[in-house]
Amino acid sequence: MSEENNNMERREFLRKSAVLGLGGLALSSLPGIITDASAASIGAGDYFTLPALPYAYDALEPFIDKMTMEIHHTKHHQAYITNLNKALANDKAAPTDITELCRTIHDGNFALRNNGGGHFNHSFFWKLLKPPVGKDPLQACPPPPAGKLSEAIVSTFGTVDAFKLKFEDRAKSVFGSGWCWLIVNDVYKLEITTSSNQDNPLMLFSPSKGVPVLALDVWEHAYYLKHQNLRMDYVKDWWQVVNWEEAEKLYVAGKQK
Ligand code: MN
Repeated sequence: MSEENNNMERREFLRKSAVLGLGGLALSSLPGIITDASAASIGAGDYFTLPALPYAYDALEPFIDKMTMEIHHTKHHQAYITNLNKALANDKAAPTDITELCRTIHDGNFALRNNGGGHFNHSFFWKLLKPPVGKDPLQACPPPPAGKLSEAIVSTFGTVDAFKLKFEDRAKSVFGSGWCWLIVNDVYKLEITTSSNQDNPLMLFSPSKGVPVLALDVWEHAYYLKHQNLRMDYVKDWWQVVNWEEAEKLYVAGKQK
């Protein structure tokens, strides 16, 4: 086998075993983290593959419904990955880590911007969800557990409720399709920001750059089957299934960068 073939094989191995990390952090050592390597559908020549979810499609009921989760994961997320792989088919220098790839994308490269962003954003979104404490649609939302993140939320926004109201307002303000984020920004402060389409705060041209801690998909495909046009009902249901423990780890890691 030629040296070139060896290098190509090694690159493929690295891509397929790439871990969804943030800032090079070895998140694979943390429980419940999705890795590209965990996907069952690794095909020849694929750069990235659909990560398995760490819960069943119906696990977030009644707040996010099974059909939405299944279509969102197997159709929407998969489509971003398929198109990302096509965009990278002749690129031998692209980073093998989706987080690092996002950091290299410039605003004029729409194939990478839309599909690389789509892959990162959805992988991140799944990781920041977990089954609800109970199934009562009217139950009180669990607050973030005591820790560094809840301390920072209170010191930045006043109270957890004030933070949630502000986050909801920003989520509501996204015109058309996009995302609402909680990030650790460049001066190590918590900040709520939004992005259009599949842009994210890792990208070079993002108006607010930083390390994501929470993400909310406000594309209609994320909620229309259950909540129809009522985006705020979806946002309020989403608080019931936020994985605060994961957000805490991301916040602590983001503060150390
Ligand atoms: Mn989506």
